[in-house]
Parts: sequence; C-alpha cells; structure tokens
Amino acid sequence: MRPPTLEELKEARKSYSRADLAVGEPTINPELVSYVKMLREAGFEEIEITTNGRMLSVPGYAEKLARAGIKKFKISIHGSNPLTHDALTRTPGSFKQTIRGLREVSKIKRKYGLTINILTTITKLNYKDIPDMVAVFLKYPVDALIFNVFDITGEATRVAHILAPKYSDVEKTFYRAIKKYETAIRRKGVEVTISLPLCILRDEIKKHYGNYELIVLCDGPAPKASELRRGRVFIEACKECSLQNLCDGVWENYIRLYGDSEFVAQKIPPQSIKKERPHRSRRALRSPQRSQDTCASWNSSGNPRDRHEHQRQGGSRSSGG
Ligand code: SF4
Repeated sequence: MRPPTLEELKEARKSYSRADLAVGEPTINPELVSYVKMLREAGFEEIEITTNGRMLSVPGYAEKLARAGIKKFKISIHGSNPLTHDALTRTPGSFKQTIRGLREVSKIKRKYGLTINILTTITKLNYKDIPDMVAVFLKYPVDALIFNVFDITGEATRVAHILAPKYSDVEKTFYRAIKKYETAIRRKGVEVTISLPLCILRDEIKKHYGNYELIVLCDGPAPKASELRRGRVFIEACKECSLQNLCDGVWENYIRLYGDSEFVAQKIPPQSIKKERPHRSRRALRSPQRSQDTCASWNSSGNPRDRHEHQRQGGSRSSGG
C-alpha cells in the first residue's frame, strides 16, 4: 500500500479531526516521523499513536514524535512485571523496554502537553495482576488506564478456552484494585475503565468505572448499534434490565463458554451511571467543537479506516510485544 499524499490527507481533514496511527506497530515504520509531520501539515491537531512502547525507549525518539505532532501516546502494557507481560507478548525483555518507553514519554509530557493512556488486554493469565498493574502505572503521569477484557470474537475464538477470563473473576480483582488505589486515582485525576457489562460490576463501581462499550476513546456520533452489537446477544436477563440502552449485550461466544448465570437484570436508573469522565470533560472544555468531531484512523501505510474500526481498536486492541 502506498502512503497517503498531502492532498489526500488535507481532503481527509475535512471529515476527520483526529488521526490515530494504530495499525500494526507504527513505530517500526522508519517514515513515521515524516507521516506525523505530514498529518500536522494537513491540519490535524489531534494525532495519536497506539504502540507497544518499545521503540519509545530509544533516547530522543519519543521527543521526535512529540515535536512532529503526536499528542496522545496509547501504550500497551499487559502486566506489572516482566514475567506476565513478556509471556503475553511472547517477547522476552519487552516489559523493560516498554516501561523505559513510558518513562521517556513521561519526561516530556508536560513540555509537549501530552496525554498518556495505558491499554491493557485482560486475559486469564493476567487478571489477578490488575491491582499490581494499577500500582505500577500510577507511578507515572498517566491520564487513563483502560482495561479491555479479552473479546471472544473472530480469530480469538480459537484460543478463548485458554485466554478468556470469567467476567466475575475479573471484577473481583478490579474491585480490589480500585478500593486499594482509589485515593491515588482520584488525586491524580486518572480515568480508569474496564470493558465489562455493567451488570457484572457492583453498583459503587459501575457508576464510575464501567466502560459502557468503548465510547471513551473516540468522540463524535456513536457508530451504528448494529455494528457494535455484531457477535453479541441480549439474553433473557437483558430484557428486564434498566441499563439495556447503555449496553451492547453479551458476546455470544462468551455465553457458549461460561453460560449466562453471571448476568442479572439491573434496576438502577441509567441516569445514575456517570457519562463523562473528569479527564474527558476537561478536554471537551478546551475544544468547543468536539461534539462534531469524528476520528480517522490511518495505518502506517496511510490508509484511512473507518471510525468504527478505530473505535474498536482503541478499546480492544493490544499492541504486540
Ligand atoms: S443489558 Fe444484559 S448484559 Fe447488559 S447490563 Fe443488563 S443484564 Fe447485563
């Protein structure tokens, strides 16, 4: 695939206000800095990157990207220690490199007004590590911790029996982490979300930390419900649930694996669920036109991808090791 021309990017800018370098591992593309500069020249002010963070450990590289125009670094980390993270990325040494990368971005965060998000895919192999992950990540000036529970869809279905955790097990460790670090999370204003159906989260948590389906990462009009709900079902309990409008249902493959006994119809009013995270509201105040924003996603060859796919990536993908 050829890279986009400046003219094509200028054309894309008319429809999209944000660009996300998110496909594959963008930092292995030697032209990345020039792509970022080109996006800036085309008028994009919000440029994001989703990365495994390893290249960011090279002294000066993160600053080059920031100077070129990257505003948000979304770094994938899947454990609090080398044992867990390196096993999941299947790359020995990747944890140390990624943490060094996070440190490099942290050093220049204030100078360039950067946002740092940590993306973590939660599997059977690391869900017990959530409290320690929160402890480690809070040592850095992060803006958001986004825990994406393994989606049993597409290719992932083949390994679901090995990797897909039971939601109620994940909820218990997530709850422990939140209770233990709540003061620090609030003091630092860190946005913490987890992609579990709201009925799995206990009330005190669901009102603040539930990620009712990935709307955190991308502004603009919601994608069609039919797209978000592909592969999901509303089960018997959902029919009586007061939160159905905030929910996209349950992965059908999850029900096949674990049954439906964890899902319980909710009675609480949907208005009691917090819709704006503090961090997001602050950004919205600085950008009065955000409500009209949409988001373009470009791979390292520069191909525009639809917003829905980007949104799923922002919420669900993990950058490899
Ligand atoms: S609609 Fe169904 S899956 Fe969603 S919160 Fe309600 S009971 Fe749970």
